[in-house]
Amino acid sequence: MNLILFGPPGAGKGTQAEFIVDRYKVVQLSTGDMLRAAVAAGTELGKMAKAVMDRGDLVDDQIIIGIIGDRIDEPDCKGGFILDGFPRTLGQAEGLDRMLDEKGLTLDAVVNISVPDEELFKRIEKRAAETGGSRADDNAETLKNRLKVYHDQTAPVLAYYEKKNMVDTVDGLQAIDQVTANIVTILDGKR
Ligand code: AMP
Repeated sequence: MNLILFGPPGAGKGTQAEFIVDRYKVVQLSTGDMLRAAVAAGTELGKMAKAVMDRGDLVDDQIIIGIIGDRIDEPDCKGGFILDGFPRTLGQAEGLDRMLDEKGLTLDAVVNISVPDEELFKRIEKRAAETGGSRADDNAETLKNRLKVYHDQTAPVLAYYEKKNMVDTVDGLQAIDQVTANIVTILDGKR
């Protein structure tokens, strides 16, 4: 099973991805995690991405599409994958479609975790306090920009998949295990 876990920053995509990985034996492909690893390793990509990420802006589409394309070719993705934090622009969504076509793969589901902005601010402030600011982009200022970027550039991706009738939306204000239960119902229905 290949799926997209969609939603604004702080919606709980990472938390839900962990459950999905366990239950469906798929791998989680988080572009945010990959970029943070590149920053930590001090690679050319990391050096380039750091300033962009600290501002809450988006890294270039072609770079991101290249990273995901290489990762999907690795053997552990054969059993299926969850895309977490990708695609984030229409260009990435179109690039993904082309890439999957070329690789003879299909998308089975797009699960959208819906959470209003006021709640996201609360959550990110809590996360910033809990992690002691270890994520440079977990502060109110950057979050504001990340939400703007989400509404301007990423929300159209949802419309793109809605047109294809592929989106299932889950209420992300529910308790974590209720969100998981809803996702399981959706994904079991696709198997
Ligand atoms: P995330 O952990 O998914 O919230 O990503 C953290 C940051 O990494 C984002 O704010 C962006 O700067 C960058 N990033 C992650 N995924 C993407 C993507 N698909 N396209 C562009 N930039 C991304």
